[in-house]
Amino acid sequence: MKQGIPKQIKLFKFSSRSLFFSQTYKVKDFPRISDLASNQESAVDVELGFELKEGKIPCVKGRVELDLALVCQRCLGEVSIHLEPKFQLAFIKNEQQGEALKDDFETILGADDEFSTIEFITDEVLISIPMAPMHDYACASYQQDTQATSKQKRENPFAMLEQLRSKNGRSKK
Ligand SMILES: [Zn+2]
Repeated sequence: MKQGIPKQIKLFKFSSRSLFFSQTYKVKDFPRISDLASNQESAVDVELGFELKEGKIPCVKGRVELDLALVCQRCLGEVSIHLEPKFQLAFIKNEQQGEALKDDFETILGADDEFSTIEFITDEVLISIPMAPMHDYACASYQQDTQATSKQKRENPFAMLEQLRSKNGRSKK
């Protein structure tokens, strides 16, 4: 049965009922992601399926699909990146519980039973974004290329993206 995703994940409840949810969000629904991207209205498709393993371990299989318009770290133009993070997580109470599941699932130790759906999805998307998004063709000269690379080594790329975005925004008007 398909239904929209609740705002709060209730791990044990959803898993013991083997619930499946899917929903289409927009980039702007995820504040920490929309800070990095300029395509605020683009679709973010999310599917989450819950199941209880070993009679007591809540597990989530999820899939997210979205395009993000980011700042190319080589030419500083806009680059559209397609992301499709998939994850299989087992929420365990202690290390022993994870033994039987560790081949198929990434184990998460000691998580709360209830947490924000938006924050959860945000984390999975953020770790799938390349550290230095770039066009897949040679979009800038060698000289610009080396400048961009040396700058990245000193700064957090996301902080840098933010600076560039606000700079671009000001120069437009
Ligand atoms: Zn580029």
